[in-house]
Amino acid sequence: MLVMVLQGVKCFINGRIYAGFKPLRVREAVVAAYGRILYVGENRDALSICRMLKGEIVDLGGRIILPGFIDSHMHLDSLGLQLATLDLRGVRSIGELKKRIREYNEEKNPGIIIGRGWDQELFDEKRWPTRWDIDEAVGDKPVILIRVCGHAAVLNTKAMEITGLLTKQTPNIVRDESGVATGVVVEDAVGEALSILSGSMSMDERVGLVESALKYASSLGVTTIGFMSCGRNSLEALFALFQSNGWRYPRIRVYMEPGLFNDVSRLGVKGGFGNEYLRIKGVKLFADGSLGARTAWLSKPYSDKPSVSGRQLISREELREVLEKASKQGFQVAVHGIGDAAIDLILSVYREFGVSGRIRHRIEHASVIRPDQIEEASRLRIVISVQPHFVISDWWAKERLGSERIKWLYPFKTMASKGIMLGFSTDSPVEPLNPWETIYAAVTRGRNENISFYEDTRNETLTLEDALYYYTYGSAYVIGEEEELGSLEEGKLADFIVVDRDPFEVDIDDVRGTKVLETYIGGERIY
Ligand code: ZN
Repeated sequence: MLVMVLQGVKCFINGRIYAGFKPLRVREAVVAAYGRILYVGENRDALSICRMLKGEIVDLGGRIILPGFIDSHMHLDSLGLQLATLDLRGVRSIGELKKRIREYNEEKNPGIIIGRGWDQELFDEKRWPTRWDIDEAVGDKPVILIRVCGHAAVLNTKAMEITGLLTKQTPNIVRDESGVATGVVVEDAVGEALSILSGSMSMDERVGLVESALKYASSLGVTTIGFMSCGRNSLEALFALFQSNGWRYPRIRVYMEPGLFNDVSRLGVKGGFGNEYLRIKGVKLFADGSLGARTAWLSKPYSDKPSVSGRQLISREELREVLEKASKQGFQVAVHGIGDAAIDLILSVYREFGVSGRIRHRIEHASVIRPDQIEEASRLRIVISVQPHFVISDWWAKERLGSERIKWLYPFKTMASKGIMLGFSTDSPVEPLNPWETIYAAVTRGRNENISFYEDTRNETLTLEDALYYYTYGSAYVIGEEEELGSLEEGKLADFIVVDRDPFEVDIDDVRGTKVLETYIGGERIY
């Protein structure tokens, strides 16, 4: 492994360099020196700087450079787990299932095998798989294979033992005629088994998971990540990765889950602790659930289930307490709020603390947000992390909200026009990490996918400039680092990408297919 050298001078000339999007700034050349941008402008000046400093010249030959994308809200550990999951969709028999696990084990030799997507309806054997089937393929390490629906799984005997499910008495464990557990578990036992098994991973495995997620992010041109709900195990894995071989990955900004935040703040650690690669920024809380499960907390009942208005997941006192502690120590607070009642709660607590100053407090998602709340968030200078790809994934949302409230769903344009700073993100692995999918969703809002509320909210469509702006500068602002990141300006960190087409020269369907050719962090190529 080569030692990372984050130094030197590189001069990129003959490019089409999008330095920023509001206003749109296009330049020919950029000089990166010792991790930062020394110059952005014309070839001639860049070349003379480069000659003076004896830098390396990179001829872009007309290629396109953009600032790196900043995903302000994603889950690095869950993404790593998803990338390490064996895809079992379309498997036709228990025999094939066994073969696939055996081969996967030989190829990757993971500590735990996690698979997903099988369906016994497709099996030649016309029966459910059992732990004895799986034991025949892999018996010496835990295996959990989740059914396509997510509500059932089959474990091998080793996994049943480790999770304690072999002997546990609950109706969620399937038994044969003689009362012996077959290895099939359903409903809550699936999540329980998965969390016990992933909790039993070694540090090396955890490091491997976050590393693979980071490499994937680099390949998509994501140069900074807002890692939400980071727990102790993942934070330790990040520190271990950082110490191992220098940092050749996207930058990470950590938002801790409340338990870790308590421990860290008790140690007297201040917000912003870390360095330019890995920095602890804040704490993530949940005020409510999701629209899909009807647990997002609405001020009026669900249109398709009038007995339900969702769930409040945090009390006002708890929220106030965390906000007070975080503000004192310089941490940002990021609160998940999807329904308008949850947003009312968050805004009312933020209001008590006054206009957001140096520390920017955040609302995550803000999916169903009323016009009066948009005014209030703008007045309080609250920043909002949005996930435009939800527009396409939540195609059923009109049933939940009805024809009046649907106008309040994902009102990006209105929020932007009221001066709220938005950060773009994916909530990956909930939505695809690929930034171009999110940009496509923000610019089209489901026009081509026949989304039921397209007509109701088509005025919330953003332009391509807007979408790129919020994915770069906007996200940098949301994480409080717009002076360092988010555009190509002299003095900022040299994080940028080379792409295979000019997004302003092709139509939006082709923008979606843009490929990232190279990714640079601090002027060094990491992909
Ligand atoms: Zn999330």
